[in-house]
Amino acid sequence: TGGPGSRRRVLLKLSGEVFGGGKLGVDPETVRAVAGQIAATVDDVEVAIVVGGGNFFRGAELSQSGMDRSRADYMGMLGTVMNCLALQDFLEQAGVETRVQSAITMGQVAEAYIPRRAIRHLEKGRVVIFGAGAGLPYFSTDTVAAQRALEVHADEVLMAKSGVDGVYTADPHRDPTAEKLDTLSYDDALRRDIRVMDQTAMTMCKDNDLTMVVFGMEGEGNVSRAIRGEKLGTVITR
Ligand code: UDP
Repeated sequence: TGGPGSRRRVLLKLSGEVFGGGKLGVDPETVRAVAGQIAATVDDVEVAIVVGGGNFFRGAELSQSGMDRSRADYMGMLGTVMNCLALQDFLEQAGVETRVQSAITMGQVAEAYIPRRAIRHLEKGRVVIFGAGAGLPYFSTDTVAAQRALEVHADEVLMAKSGVDGVYTADPHRDPTAEKLDTLSYDDALRRDIRVMDQTAMTMCKDNDLTMVVFGMEGEGNVSRAIRGEKLGTVITR
């Protein structure tokens, strides 16, 4: 078995909150635990990862406090690179070969984003972590997750969420009648203004027929299970 192109390939989106354990900066034990779950899957699945940076800076928030939006967005993108390096470190401690590719060139810490090279890494069983978002202000790492998933031909994009285990009919923290949805179409998600991912990202997945799985980080082994293809949480399709 094996050989290029025959294994399942996923794009996992880890938002910044996954790294901070709810706080500012990086919480090493939290990152170690996530890395361990990813490491458990890499013999069977090709794993590419897009990391967020909300545990450091969000451009929109900084610009509300008076900063220039683009410069603030670059700060946000640089934050994601720190998360990449933390994740790379714990993955390598767990014995997994890992490459970080950054959309903003910084040769000392990461490779440049070169899609065909990323695909080669995946075929060789290396985990590829994409940092610095798209390298463009006014974008989000959710949109980058959809774009990278499409460009490396991932089978699915997996959105790991903290504090919620899927998509609900209403906010489950506020509305006791909210029900979890096992499946959902992109049209419904867009119509209901469901904010599991930004609308640009959702539209991109819809237009290109890319399946998204929204699942909670919290359950035992959930990250491993989602990577392996268990239908946890909510599956969004066209
Ligand atoms: N960002 C950006 N362009 C990108 C990706 C990210 O400008 O292509 C900036 C933006 O300011 C964003 C911040 O980086 O607020 C952190 O990313 P994001 O908010 O998507 O992280 P997450 O919410 O997943 O932690």
